[in-house]
Amino acid sequence: MTCQELVELVTDYFDGALDEARRDQFEDHLNFCPGCKQYVEQLRVTLRLAQDLAAVERTPEVAALLDAFRDWHPAGGQAS
Ligand SMILES: [Zn+2]
Repeated sequence: MTCQELVELVTDYFDGALDEARRDQFEDHLNFCPGCKQYVEQLRVTLRLAQDLAAVERTPEVAALLDAFRDWHPAGGQAS
């Protein structure tokens, strides 16, 4: 699985919509790709936070964070 494929599957992964083979590929990728691992962990935290906040109010800060994640591509992995 490439980094791009992982990014495209990440919402299905969080939804539990991946079949077992695909999920294994996804998690295997995380084991050897620190950039994607960091991406998924941060997205997991952000989604949980966003779900909590969405029950109350969708703030501009949350919208900006979600936009930033949507535009972020882990391929290359040079960023921090
Ligand atoms: Zn990757």
